Amino acid sequence: MDQKLKKINCPVCNGTAIVKVPYDLAREDVLVKCLICKNGKVDEDKVDDICTDDDGFKRLLKN
Ligand SMILES: [Zn+2]
Repeated sequence: MDQKLKKINCPVCNGTAIVKVPYDLAREDVLVKCLICKNGKVDEDKVDDICTDDDGFKRLLKN
């Protein structure tokens, strides 16, 4: 397999692939799969595309 892109630990979930839903949104502790990465790894060039929504949820600018 040819991998050009460097994979780094996802900055959103810290490589766990699980993120906590903002308490303001869920009103309880809810864990969901990270929307940004796959298995906690993200392409290095994707990190710049990560933004935080008004509700505090992090997601990619591009989909
Ligand atoms: Zn992640």
